[in-house]
Amino acid sequence: MDAILFDFGGTLDSDALPWIDRFDRLYAQAGLAPDRTRFDRAFYDSDDNLPARFRLQGLSLQETLTLQVRCVLNSLAPQRVEQTGPIVQAFLAESRASFRRVRPVLERLSRRYRLGVVSNFYGNLDSVLASEGLRDLFAVVIDSGVVGATKPDPAIFQAALQALGTSPKNTLMVGDSLARDMRGAEALGMPHLWIADLSKPACCHQALRAASVADLEKALAPLRVGIIAAGEGSRLQSSHPETIKPLIPIHGRPLCHWIVDSLRGAGATDFTILFNAKGRQAPDSLRTAFPDLRFSFLERDTASSWESFRLVASTLAQTEGDFLISTVDALVPPSAIRRFVQEARRSGASAALAITSFIDDEKPLWADVSHGRVTALGAQARQKTHATCGLYYMTAEAVQTFPSAEKYGSLREYLSSLVCAGQTAGIVLAKTLDVDRPEDVRQAEAFVTALRS
Ligand SMILES: [Mg+2]
Repeated sequence: MDAILFDFGGTLDSDALPWIDRFDRLYAQAGLAPDRTRFDRAFYDSDDNLPARFRLQGLSLQETLTLQVRCVLNSLAPQRVEQTGPIVQAFLAESRASFRRVRPVLERLSRRYRLGVVSNFYGNLDSVLASEGLRDLFAVVIDSGVVGATKPDPAIFQAALQALGTSPKNTLMVGDSLARDMRGAEALGMPHLWIADLSKPACCHQALRAASVADLEKALAPLRVGIIAAGEGSRLQSSHPETIKPLIPIHGRPLCHWIVDSLRGAGATDFTILFNAKGRQAPDSLRTAFPDLRFSFLERDTASSWESFRLVASTLAQTEGDFLISTVDALVPPSAIRRFVQEARRSGASAALAITSFIDDEKPLWADVSHGRVTALGAQARQKTHATCGLYYMTAEAVQTFPSAEKYGSLREYLSSLVCAGQTAGIVLAKTLDVDRPEDVRQAEAFVTALRS
């Protein structure tokens, strides 16, 4: 990715609140509370006709808002036109609070990416941004009123890509509108990040999410992953006696390739993978299949799943503040992995467990979850409706408190102690699949087919 395009209204000037909703509230506060239908009509009449009614070139945000509000008041309540000033001031104050929050983020991003704005605006966005001290952050500003195409028309996005000299796949579109920003980006194959209340369902499997542009860096932070592929896979030995578990074919492709593929789809580029001595062919097969990814491999015949987890997490914590650990048999869709990471990072917890209600395991590790926290694990869990699914979020801080490799006989024992100590987030994912037994292979094939379609 080398460029980021931003929508303006509802993206840079507020956290996902469109102008019409912000104004509706401010008019109501000013004692001008017409019914919403009348207000909408007056607002859109002003909005649609502003460039035809006035010469907007070179006007500041404040001057532009003043004309917009005056037109609305002239149509709604002409006797109250003196309210223009206070309404504009209130709108400006909110917008400027948002600009103060997002400006340092945009400054830092502008050192790594070229930034642009793509907006359905009045034709004077350039001077509007300049008046608020924001214009210098953007290499290009594409205004529908200037280019003659409005989002989601591909032409307006292409104008921005052309001006930046980049391609859709290397550019991220950030915006609050599903119909204009997200669908427009999707149609061109551009990665996109939706600024919206995180409780709303995502627009598609590929979308990144953030509640505010102020949180953008967290959403874009690189994702480092450890994979534990050192287990014996004893339950699969009856059907695949010659093959180690990471290399068991699912639709003719090794299981570990599917796992890496899902994690890559979630944004991971760096992998630390632990194999045992029997897994020596696996590194070459991964390097050949994924020449664009960075791998480092550990080889150890560990005594327990806790020792394996401890080794991978300690290795990653030497260079990373936080990371994911996946077992080699946990098939999770990329969109679910991404949501897991985002929610784990937002939770502020030092560790998080991915939890599923899809239980198809003879030995599930039951987990009770309440208000985003795991409250009990294994034998202590009462509900028996959810279980862990082989995907973990860890921070370097959690690794600092790791006991010795001998302390626990299994990863389950360590996780139980972690949950007892409190502050372990639990994030419930939709269907995930554990590949442990011969009959799981067919299910895994159906699962990956569904993911690809
Ligand atoms: Mg918007």
